[in-house]
Amino acid sequence: MAATMMDGKALAERVRAEVAEEVRAFGEIGLATVLVGGGAASQVYIRLKQEAAAKAGIAAKDVRLPETTSEAELLEVVAGLNADDAVDALLVQLPVPKGIDEAKVIRALDPDKDVDGLHPLNAGELMLARPRILPATARGVMEILAEYRIELDGARAVVVGRSEIVGKPVAQLLEQANATVTICHSHTRDLARVTLDAEVLVVAAGRAAMISPDMVAAGAAVIDVGINRTDAGLVGDVDPGVANVAAYLTPVPGGVGPMTIACLLQNAVGCARFRRENGLA
Ligand code: NAP
Repeated sequence: MAATMMDGKALAERVRAEVAEEVRAFGEIGLATVLVGGGAASQVYIRLKQEAAAKAGIAAKDVRLPETTSEAELLEVVAGLNADDAVDALLVQLPVPKGIDEAKVIRALDPDKDVDGLHPLNAGELMLARPRILPATARGVMEILAEYRIELDGARAVVVGRSEIVGKPVAQLLEQANATVTICHSHTRDLARVTLDAEVLVVAAGRAAMISPDMVAAGAAVIDVGINRTDAGLVGDVDPGVANVAAYLTPVPGGVGPMTIACLLQNAVGCARFRRENGLA
């Protein structure tokens, strides 16, 4: 039987409508995005984030800096946005150009405005099971699993990928939902042996169609985070043939991608609320 395709697009539309409602009730919320130089993919992501924020009624500031921007100049821009009371939520689009220390830029963000949840304080609170601001993609993955009522308590979950922005936070959230979690990466031996054991499989490796149907157990729930630009267009990390084996699968596009944007907006509202409630704005 073919898998149920998990409709991230429809869920994201619902979340975005809820965010717009919250923004109306809340009043002015400010989001600033910073793009330094940036390839085609980064330009698209910034455009999508800006458009989604504007549509939700969030005041979105689109800061563009030239590729030649120095680390000191970027840090100065970040400091200015940290100090700007009209900015509740702030992100620097990654990757930044070579020569700029990404970790230093992330550390420079006001953790209360760190809408991507990447600052060490927010990453640390997540690790300690006191999540504050979650990386939007990880939040989106968990919301899709919740929407389709995928049982996580006691489930065997496998995450392929261990990046700070996706793999690690997803693995931590699955563990906090009481799944038994295995994390795979480029050094994992016999990947198929591990993935075949998964009742819940989350793939965020950035390798087109790397998960083939013979690597997935019958009845598994499979979340494909991958976005790979190929001659055949945008494809995920999971071969579409997995739909013949799995019970649930997210499509690419139309799965995790739209939820990432929707969850970023949820995070922006969360940042604004925290700042108001704590007298920071
Ligand atoms: P990343 O930083 O490049 O991390 C990739 C991870 O996959 C690394 O941990 C790497 O292992 C692991 N890996 C690579 N090849 C592997 C293999 N053959 N077997 C097992 N593990 C392997 O990428 P990312 O930022 O996490 O993004 C992953 C994918 O998700 C990309 O396609 C990206 O475009 C996509 N993405 C989508 C969204 C969305 O909204 N849908 C958001 C963010 C990212 P090592 O650690 O050993 O190198």
